Amino acid sequence: MSLRETEHIYALDLFPRRNVSIVRGEGATLWDDTGRAYIDCVAGFGVASIGHANREVAEAIAAQARTLITCPSIFYNDVRARLMEKLVAITPTGLDRVFLCNSGTESTEAALKFARHATGRTNFVCSMRGFHGRTLGALSATFKHRERFEPLVPGFSFVPLENIEKLREQVNDQTAGVLIELVQGEGGVRIASREYLDAVGALCHERGALLIVDEVQTGFCRTGKMFACDHHGVRPDILCVAKAIGGGVPLGAVLCGDKVQHTHGIHGSTFGGNPLAAAAGLAAIEFMERHDLAGQATRKGARLRAALEPRLPGVVRELRQIGLMIGIELKRKAQPYLAALMDRGVFALPAGPTVIRLLPPLVITDEQLDTVANALIEVLTVD
Ligand SMILES: *Cc1c(COP(=O)(O)O)cnc(C)c1O
Repeated sequence: MSLRETEHIYALDLFPRRNVSIVRGEGATLWDDTGRAYIDCVAGFGVASIGHANREVAEAIAAQARTLITCPSIFYNDVRARLMEKLVAITPTGLDRVFLCNSGTESTEAALKFARHATGRTNFVCSMRGFHGRTLGALSATFKHRERFEPLVPGFSFVPLENIEKLREQVNDQTAGVLIELVQGEGGVRIASREYLDAVGALCHERGALLIVDEVQTGFCRTGKMFACDHHGVRPDILCVAKAIGGGVPLGAVLCGDKVQHTHGIHGSTFGGNPLAAAAGLAAIEFMERHDLAGQATRKGARLRAALEPRLPGVVRELRQIGLMIGIELKRKAQPYLAALMDRGVFALPAGPTVIRLLPPLVITDEQLDTVANALIEVLTVD
């Protein structure tokens, strides 16, 4: 029996599987168990921004593993301290306290608790098509995948992105927070405008609700800035991050401004802030800064767009791109095109039924990007 069959037999059936077994990676390249190479525009759902098997992160992990792997947050720890200091330094002004956790959904859970605690209010307003995770609290803030799990946490309502009037109708003196992705990832790479974000910020301020920004997917250079907030000077009260922060190691964080006070004892995590993940996070962020991955994402995103835009066939409804976060909305189902791309050696993601999403490692080479562009045009042109 092959190991692929073994996994198929033993894993709980949750994911739509691709018939390929990945055993190795380097930069933006993945290899399967037959030695075939693929250009990876999935990057672990946007996790592998600094590239697969990044040497600097691998060495930081190895060194930390030999020094100290676990250390609960009842003790101070040197590596954790440096990671927190770094996070506060690179995130938008006003965010000066950090809670470390292990995933995106955990960052949402913590943010919801912090916002309720800080405001004494219960409700949240979220965006249609928004995605914030799969545990029950985060799922309550998520637009899709809900029905089979009701009753969820009460007090969540949903408004269309970019419609400030609808938001105005929903935010009131019971609203603890407005939770928003600046670019919806799972929702199809939908980019909120500066005008909308300014209005959301002003409304939150006026009505005493916290602005909670979910940058789990957009954070750490993906959109061409360290954070998507930096495009428009967005100043969240709470910021959720995860995915690319740890260079592939499970790590998430919630950054809080001064409205979140008196938090002693209200939340915690056994693994959160462990030195192993913290060392990975520090090394990953230092790599991003040293190699200007934000600048690389801007330049490479523009290059890909320029390669695609003049050649887009009629099946494409719209190309949406910010940095190396790319959504290609089709007039048909995306799935057959994803399969065709895989046949040509390119992994890509869906985002909803009709959107092809590309989240390549930000270290992808220009040659690889050109190969991706050509493969895309080829598969989209074939009928
Ligand atoms: C992936 C994602 C999450 C959930 O992160 P997990 O680590 O899978 O729990 C939350 N919010 C956004 C915007 C995401 O893209």
